[in-house]
Amino acid sequence: MDERVLQAMLPYFTQHFGNPSSINHHYGWEAEAAVKKARETLAEAIHATPEEIVFTSGATEADNLALKGVAEAYFSKGRHIITLATEHNAVLDPCEYLESLGFEVTYLPVQGDGLVDLAELEQAIRPDTILVSVMAANNEIGVLQPLVEIGAVCREHEVLFHTDAAQAIGKIPLDVEAMKIDLMSLTAHKVYGPKGVGALYVRRRQPRVRLSPQLHGGGQERGMRSGTLYTPQIVGFAKAVELGLEEQETQSKRLLGWRDRLYSQLSQIEGVHLNGHPTHRLPGNLNISVENVDGSALLLGLQPVMAISSGAACSSVTTAPSHVLMALGHSESLAYASIRFGLGRFTTEEEIDTVAKHAIATIQALRSAQAMSYR
Ligand SMILES: *Cc1c(COP(=O)(O)O)cnc(C)c1O
Repeated sequence: MDERVLQAMLPYFTQHFGNPSSINHHYGWEAEAAVKKARETLAEAIHATPEEIVFTSGATEADNLALKGVAEAYFSKGRHIITLATEHNAVLDPCEYLESLGFEVTYLPVQGDGLVDLAELEQAIRPDTILVSVMAANNEIGVLQPLVEIGAVCREHEVLFHTDAAQAIGKIPLDVEAMKIDLMSLTAHKVYGPKGVGALYVRRRQPRVRLSPQLHGGGQERGMRSGTLYTPQIVGFAKAVELGLEEQETQSKRLLGWRDRLYSQLSQIEGVHLNGHPTHRLPGNLNISVENVDGSALLLGLQPVMAISSGAACSSVTTAPSHVLMALGHSESLAYASIRFGLGRFTTEEEIDTVAKHAIATIQALRSAQAMSYR
């Protein structure tokens, strides 16, 4: 977390500890004012209105609320949902759950560069389609889906458009009007904010999105998400997004330069390929596949220098190969021998060169050991 985010949060743990829903005394008022300001900041960041922001515990909850909430509210209109094979599990798993209830889900494949085929998306829309859910930026390969074009297709066919923007907020410009987005999932901890807080944007006008709440109780968040609001986390979330927007341009430039420098060093060795579109991607994301090395040996070799893990943090309990890389058409062994490098606000130039040097040495050592054992 960014130190500036922590500083913004601290007073709301002890000094201004009121419940923002307690509107009859000054403890509540202080907290309410802070939540109101945070809501405005977040709404402004995506060109929405404050009433359209529903605070949640993160993007997983926002995705669940969007998918199940729309499915429940619109099932008499239709029971078909369209999404991508490369979505995060927070979208894919609710979709599978909805299938078990009798909904139909189309999991669109992606092209070799990780992007959706717009013609294929349009063809998949049926009279009973109620929702299209396509992520803004992929968490593994960093590719940015064409939100403006997808939004236009959905609006034309009067189908709601949800996007999981957990990886995108504060990193690339987002505009729910220009992109015709009806629901958008956000989270704080991917943009140097605290864990455990996020939001769902829910469009109120043209069209007004109906949503069945998934948590019932005190009626907070206009009944769409009950539960006492977590003031410090919400303040930190807004601060993190504010900083992300302020620094978006300078950070993007800086990370792009280093990302390209890292890749140009790594790609000097044979059999290293970039995963995902070369330019339609997050500036801080580099994902490569390495031919002719064993994935688990590569992991072990890189561990002393890098904080590296197998699979996404959200699915490292499983040992299955990445469903995203498989959707790009990779073999299982190549999917295992792939690395996502994440560059961020606190990455240094020195780290880029250290990592490049170590990764190259590791790959070369593994290959020559393999060659020896074949002899
Ligand atoms: C991290 C992530 C999530 C989950 O967000 P949480 O706030 O950790 O629940 C969902 N979708 C994407 C694309 C993510 O990167």
